[in-house]
Amino acid sequence: MPAPGEAMPIESAASLPGMHDEFGLARRLKSALWVFDIDHRRVVMANEPACKLWQAASEAELCARDFSDDMSSSVAKRLKQYQLDFLSRSATFTEMWTLYPNGEPENTMVTFSGFPLSDGRMAMLCEVLGTAEDEPDNLRSAEALLHTDVMITLYDHEGATLYMNPAARSFAILGYEDLSQKFVRRKDHRRMMEGLLRSTEHKMIAEVRTPDGERWFDITAKKCQDAVTGRPAILETATDITELKMARDKAKFLADRDQLTGCFNRTYLQHHISVLSKFETRECALLYLDIDFFKQINDRHGHETGDVVLQHVASRISSAVRSDDFVVRLGGDEFLVVFKNTTDLERLKVRIDKIQQLISKPIVHDGGRFVVRSSMGVAMFRPKDADFAHVMRDADIALYVSKQHGRNRVTFYTDQMGKDADTRSQLEVDIAQALKDRQFELHFQPRYCLNEGRVVSAEALVRWRHPERGLILPGEFIPLCEETGLINELGLMVLEMSCQRAMAWHADGAGMGVSINISARQFEDTRFFEALAEYAAMPDFATGQIELELTESLLVGDNPDIVRQISEISEMGYSIAIDDFGTGFSNLSYITRFPISCIKIDRSFVNQLPESGPIVRLILTLARQIGAKVVAEGVETVEQFEFLSKEGCEQVQGYYIAAPLFPVEFEETVHRLRLNDAWSNGHGKLAAIC
Ligand code: C2E
Ligand code: CA
Ligand code: CA
Repeated sequence: MPAPGEAMPIESAASLPGMHDEFGLARRLKSALWVFDIDHRRVVMANEPACKLWQAASEAELCARDFSDDMSSSVAKRLKQYQLDFLSRSATFTEMWTLYPNGEPENTMVTFSGFPLSDGRMAMLCEVLGTAEDEPDNLRSAEALLHTDVMITLYDHEGATLYMNPAARSFAILGYEDLSQKFVRRKDHRRMMEGLLRSTEHKMIAEVRTPDGERWFDITAKKCQDAVTGRPAILETATDITELKMARDKAKFLADRDQLTGCFNRTYLQHHISVLSKFETRECALLYLDIDFFKQINDRHGHETGDVVLQHVASRISSAVRSDDFVVRLGGDEFLVVFKNTTDLERLKVRIDKIQQLISKPIVHDGGRFVVRSSMGVAMFRPKDADFAHVMRDADIALYVSKQHGRNRVTFYTDQMGKDADTRSQLEVDIAQALKDRQFELHFQPRYCLNEGRVVSAEALVRWRHPERGLILPGEFIPLCEETGLINELGLMVLEMSCQRAMAWHADGAGMGVSINISARQFEDTRFFEALAEYAAMPDFATGQIELELTESLLVGDNPDIVRQISEISEMGYSIAIDDFGTGFSNLSYITRFPISCIKIDRSFVNQLPESGPIVRLILTLARQIGAKVVAEGVETVEQFEFLSKEGCEQVQGYYIAAPLFPVEFEETVHRLRLNDAWSNGHGKLAAIC
């Protein structure tokens, strides 16, 4: 006797000992009947009508046939399922089958039931009830029902199963008692039943328990009647869409996410906020966050390091928010956190502080250790009332205020900030128009050389001649121009006017230098370099007489582009001065990398003389070391003037000599100062000119 699963000897069942009697009756039946060994895919017994049906010469010939060759995988799978059903619940099925005795289809109505073999395995007894040649449509629909992968189940109105097609039958092994147990989430069953109360049909996608684990199905449930009892029933069709859903979910995940950090992206934010504004009623908070000096990390350590920093920052923010909240990377180093349900402001502050602390923990990468800080702006909003773009703007304004107040801080938006921002926007529009109308003009402040006893140079200082407000000083518009990039336009205009003036003085033989304030941003503008080259090529260009005043912030750092650009400018014939010296950075190593011919001591040191004397002496020594002259700015008193003169400072500039003046006034003043040699005597006072 073979063990279960072992091959049975291929012999006619009639010749097997003890089988003859068992099948005696069966052999006398007029309808076809045979026993099929599902494991070995062979007939083990067949009566004469069955042999005829199968077009076999004899039972032995039929039993010798290997059915594996013609059997599709779906049929094989279904037979295995039948075997399980016979074993687990003595099932009997009556179905329309198409047999292919010799390649020709033969449609027969067959009843299948379990038939235990003597070796303990479960075979299948097949009895033909008749053929249905005269009803081809019925036949085809029955056939389709049989072979489809769509699971079709009929439930009574209480959810008990009335009918399952073979595909649905694979679920029977899980032994659901009713429909509700099929769903991974009970609420999906509830949804379906509620849907059927409202309408005759309900469609849904739900996760379902299957013998292969939990899988996703596209389900349609329809109200109908049981054809047998006429009672209300539910017909459910279910298609396994797990792979499709996973592929779709993945595509959606990728479309919604920022590739570098895995945070949500702007597209998702927009979509989500529109959902929020429809359905969310509780107050939310928007945190706009920006990494301080991120550009420097990128410039100094490379983009790869910049990326690592962004990834760390993103994961730290994400670790500190609740599952309801979400983190968006807006682009660059800007992140946005949406905190849901934030009625408790104190708790919100604690959570934001935590994010800030986490971000500032050192990041170790590639042998380096980076400590990054962040500036933040927070705006509160009630989704139902709020216009999203407006709230984003509020958070952005609050962030701007954080940056203005020295960064590394959190600012909560106030209405006053909004008003200030409106004023700034209006100012920006006005400046742009003023540039078109050329409402800017230059005033010149004399630089007096103590050794030569005369004015040797002039600092060009821009003013806005506003049609209604009169003369506006640069403190009111330069910072905004720098922020918005308008400084590039303005800088070109100032450069043009300054160079024209310098060339006019040169042509007159006045021997008067001009120094021009240059903003760091102008170094990103190619038009600036083109203009410099253009003026340098003009016949009246006085080599060495036009000086560019640069700030320390531009010069620190290892940016090779800046080093190259400055050396090119110097080669064109422009001099380089460091403006506001001493106010910026403590690291002075940059000084030797640039061709600096002048250092301007910031007014704040001159103000504090004689207490700041040691610093001033230090700067004078440093300048001598690198062969640069020193100009003291903001000299207002005779004491300051005399101190600087005694210490050997080369030049002074300030109200003590003269305030910034119109070109004509400037020329008059220079002339008057020449006539008066009071300074060379050490006790003059010409401040009356100011
Ligand atoms: P800065 O380059 O430090 O220019 C010197 C400022 O000090 C000028 O202010 C000048 O009027 C003022 N000043 C001169 N002597 C004295 C003094 O004895 N006492 C006091 N208290 N102040 C004195 P201003 O003209 O208002 O310019 C302010 C700043 O605006 C400048 O500071 C400069 O950074 C910027 N700026 C001016 N013109 C331009 C320009 O054309 N381009 C750029 N990028 N910035 C400019
Ligand atoms: Ca200056
Ligand atoms: Ca200055």
